[in-house]
Amino acid sequence: MTCTRCDGLMVSEWICDLQGMSSDLCAEGYRCLLCGNIIDRTILENRRPSTNATEPLTGSSPYMPRLVAA
Ligand SMILES: [Zn+2]
Repeated sequence: MTCTRCDGLMVSEWICDLQGMSSDLCAEGYRCLLCGNIIDRTILENRRPSTNATEPLTGSSPYMPRLVAA
């Protein structure tokens, strides 16, 4: 397995919390030793935005959207 960016060596490892998408998500993927590029199976298969999953902790959005409607 070589990196798609720099063609460097990629090692297989378990990657958790990919880009803050979900704290529960752990997937087997590959990480480049040179540039740090990460490729996991979910990225390889489908790069769909998981907006319906757990909200990323980076934003400051309210956690209870139902109360806003009142
Ligand atoms: Zn690389």
